[in-house]
Amino acid sequence: MVARSYWVETLGCPKNQVDSDKLEGTLAADGLLRADDPEQADLIVINTCAFIEEARQESIDTILAFDAQRREGAKLVVTGCLAERYRDELVEALPEVDLVAPFGTALTSVLAPSSVAVRIGTKPGNGPGRSAPDFDLLNLPRPAARAPWAYVKVAEGCDRNCGFCAIPSFRGKQRSRALDDVVAEVEALGAKEIVLVAQDLAAYGRDQGQGERALVPLVQRLDGLVDWVRLLYLYPSDLTDTLIDTICATEVAYFDLSLQHVSAPLLRRMRRWGDGERFLARIADIRRRRPDAAFRTNFIVGYPGETEADHDQLVRFLEEARLDWCGFFAYSPEEGTYATTLDGDVPASLRDEWLHELRELQDGITAEARDALIGTTVRVLVDEPGVARSFREAPEIDGTIEVPEDLAVGSFAEVAVVDALGPDLVAERVRP
Ligand code: SF4
Repeated sequence: MVARSYWVETLGCPKNQVDSDKLEGTLAADGLLRADDPEQADLIVINTCAFIEEARQESIDTILAFDAQRREGAKLVVTGCLAERYRDELVEALPEVDLVAPFGTALTSVLAPSSVAVRIGTKPGNGPGRSAPDFDLLNLPRPAARAPWAYVKVAEGCDRNCGFCAIPSFRGKQRSRALDDVVAEVEALGAKEIVLVAQDLAAYGRDQGQGERALVPLVQRLDGLVDWVRLLYLYPSDLTDTLIDTICATEVAYFDLSLQHVSAPLLRRMRRWGDGERFLARIADIRRRRPDAAFRTNFIVGYPGETEADHDQLVRFLEEARLDWCGFFAYSPEEGTYATTLDGDVPASLRDEWLHELRELQDGITAEARDALIGTTVRVLVDEPGVARSFREAPEIDGTIEVPEDLAVGSFAEVAVVDALGPDLVAERVRP
């Protein structure tokens, strides 16, 4: 019998990529092969994102595009955040989808309609509405890394209640994985770089009664196993001295701080900790230890009640902090969140003006930071022929470094930076 094949299309954040890898692991365990292209696949799985309106629209567009190109008889499954949040609405609105599968649904059931199939979210009239045998995606096996780096999710869910965020409402409370399980996954992946992700990474282990410090032994252990360990999404109040020391002791002095804003009153309205002064002090602490440390953060622009004064504070912060990388996101009201109960809507035109100003300012700061690297030698990991990264660039998020094509993929090399083009660098082999 010819093995059936699948295609998994992933949208959204790195955490979704990990879920997709795990889905692939289970599909492979069920005897399916990865198709060379979606038109050949018997099963197409769209792992969606529901973070903001734009992401939801992209998810819907992708579902429709794959529906149009699937071959006769192929099954179309929608999973991920959109399926979790809007299951019933999707079932109603997208009759072309064969299965709307929340996290952990056994997807291959859709290929065997007569078996004890999982019917959660199938089209009305298409099944008896059985409940899914939920399994925890977190601890499922996944295929070996395809790139020299891989995301590893160490916890699912979040115990915070940030005003703008709907994630805890559908991803649930934080569930951290056991350290040994994470280590085993990292060993099996065989990647040179591991990028640790979670909704609230610095809180890893807290739900297991491990207090504030569970991330430290995890990073130390992984640092002995792989060349680079990178951490994404650190909530600033959990950035303890011990954690900073631990990160600075590795090769990857990269700090992805989840700041969202710097104005104290606005942060309180977001139900978040901190203010610009505290953040600057922490950044200075890190730079004292590692002057070459790289920083990334994200800000929300146009949160209800944001004023010109709040915006000016953010501008001054950027000028002072001189972070390497910043993302700016337009506030998007999310159903059921605290923020939607607040007054003080920011007009879209003003929000867009602020976004433009912030992006332009930060582009200049990023470009200056990149220009300053010209003439230096950096150690890079080669991701694909001619494309590499140093510790300063997180995969898929930050800039890249153009390197000689003959450097082997998956190898480390010392290269000399000779040029900068906005966020990207150009480097040559170091001459003896
Ligand atoms: S820390 Fe805040 S923004 Fe991040 S997932 Fe939790 S609630 Fe959402």
